[in-house]
Amino acid sequence: MIRSFIIVVGLQLFASAAEAPASAAEPKKPNIVMIYADDVGYGDLSCNGATRYKTPALDMLAASGINFHAGYSAGSTCTPSRFSLLTGNLPWRQKGTGILPGDAALILPAADQATLPSRLKSAGYTTAVVGKWHLGLGDGKQPIDWNKEVVPGPREVGFDFSFIMPATGDRTPCVFLRNGKVVDLDPADPISVSYKQKVGDDPTGRENPELLEMGLVHGHDGTIVNGISRIGFMSGGKKARWIDQDIADTLTGQTVQFIKDNKDKPFFIYFATHDTHVPRAPHSRFVGKSGLGPRGDAMLQLDWSVGAVMASLAEHGLLENTLVIFSSDNGAVLGDGYADQAQERLGDHKPSGPWKGGKYSNFEGGTRVPFIAAWNGRIKPGASDAIIGQVDLMNTLGAIAGAPALKDGVANDSLDMSAALLGDSPKGREWLLGGASPDFLRVGDWKVIPGGEGKKQLFNLAADPGEDKNLAEENPSKLKEMLERYKQLKAQKQTR
Ligand code: CA
Repeated sequence: MIRSFIIVVGLQLFASAAEAPASAAEPKKPNIVMIYADDVGYGDLSCNGATRYKTPALDMLAASGINFHAGYSAGSTCTPSRFSLLTGNLPWRQKGTGILPGDAALILPAADQATLPSRLKSAGYTTAVVGKWHLGLGDGKQPIDWNKEVVPGPREVGFDFSFIMPATGDRTPCVFLRNGKVVDLDPADPISVSYKQKVGDDPTGRENPELLEMGLVHGHDGTIVNGISRIGFMSGGKKARWIDQDIADTLTGQTVQFIKDNKDKPFFIYFATHDTHVPRAPHSRFVGKSGLGPRGDAMLQLDWSVGAVMASLAEHGLLENTLVIFSSDNGAVLGDGYADQAQERLGDHKPSGPWKGGKYSNFEGGTRVPFIAAWNGRIKPGASDAIIGQVDLMNTLGAIAGAPALKDGVANDSLDMSAALLGDSPKGREWLLGGASPDFLRVGDWKVIPGGEGKKQLFNLAADPGEDKNLAEENPSKLKEMLERYKQLKAQKQTR
C-alpha cells in the first residue's frame, strides 16, 4: 500500500515535470539510467500498439521523450546484445559471445575505458549494474566457487556497484550476487553448482515432475528451485535462493536505493530487468491482471518497475538532469521452455508489433525492439525513424557524458549518435549490421539476409515492413550491391 502510494505521487511529479518548459541552462553531465528489459518486443508496449493491456509508465516515458521506431539490439538473443551494448563491438568480433551457460567465464574486457561503465567512470561517473548479468563470471581457469568472492565480475570491468543474477532466471545458481558475494549465504550450507550432472539431493524436473509448479516443454529439467526447475544443477545456499515472485521488487528496490544514495553526483545505472524472460512468475499483485497469462502479467510488472524508477528520480528532483533509456535485449518470444500459456492466451496481441518474427529471428522482430530516450527539459518529446543501434550507446553516452575520445581498438562498431538520441537531428545510421554472425545488413530502407549458403533474402522495409516479399530474384542488381556492402563492412576491423 505504502509502496503504491509513493509511486502514484512520484508519477504525478513525473507527469507535471514532463510538461514543464525546456530550461535554458543545460546540465553538463546528466545521470544516465539504462533500463534494459529482457525478451520484450516492440509491440509489447501500449505506446507501440498493444491494446490488450496498458503500460502507463512506459507510455509516459515515451510521451516525455523520443520513441524510436528503428532502434535495434545487436543480437536476437541475450548475451550477444548485452556484450555489444557494454563494449560497442558487434558480437561476431569476439568468439564465445553466444548464449552463455550459467558457469561461463567473463567475456567483457577489463582494460581501462573498454566498456561503457569504464568509459563513464573515466568521465567522473559512479556506475552500477543491477539485474540480469549473463556475461560470464570468473577467469575460466577453474570452476567458480560460489562460496567465495566471485572475480572477475562486473566490478573488474567498470561497475562500482553490482547486484546481479549471475546468468538468467532459468539457470542455476538461483541467487543474487552483491559485489561478487552471494547475498544471504549461510557458510554452513555451501553452494555447489554443476552444468554436467546432478549435485546434492534437491529434486530435479527430470526426476520429480510432480513437484513442479510450472510445467516444462523442453530443457529446464535440472534442479527445482521455488517449484520451478532450471537449466543446470545446484545444491546448498537454501537461505540465499531467490523467490521468483520477488525478483522484480528486489531489483527495482536496489535500483531505487542506488539512485537515492548517489543523487548528489553523476551516476550511471544499468538496470537489466528479468522481465519478461522465462520463467515468468510475477508477484501476486500482477497475476491475472493482463488477461494474457504470465507473460502479459510480467509486462505489467516491468511497467511497474519503470514507474518506480521514474518516481524515484522525480522524488529526488533528478528528472531534469537524468537521461533515461529504455530498450530490450532482443525481440519477443512466447513459449520458451516452460508451459506458461504465452501462446495459448495471446489472442490478438502482437508482441513484435508490425515486424515479422521475434527472438532468435533475422527478421525485424528479432532485433528491432522498443527504444525510448527521455531527458526532461533537454529532449523534445516526439518520435523518430532514425536507425540507431544499442551498439552505439558506448560511443554516444560517452560523448554525452564528456568522456575522453575512444581509444583505438575499442568500441569498433559504435557510432556517436548523440544528435539523434537527443533529438537534435532526425538522421540516424546509414547502415546497420544485425545479428550474431552478422545475420543481416540494413542500408536505408533495404535489407539483405545473406543466409550463409542458403537462400538470400532481400526486402524493402519502406514498401514491405512485414518482410513478406523477397525481392532477391526480381532485383538482382540491388541484391548484389547489398551483398557486396555486407562483405565489405564485415571485413573492416573497425566500422566507426
Ligand atoms: Ca533476452
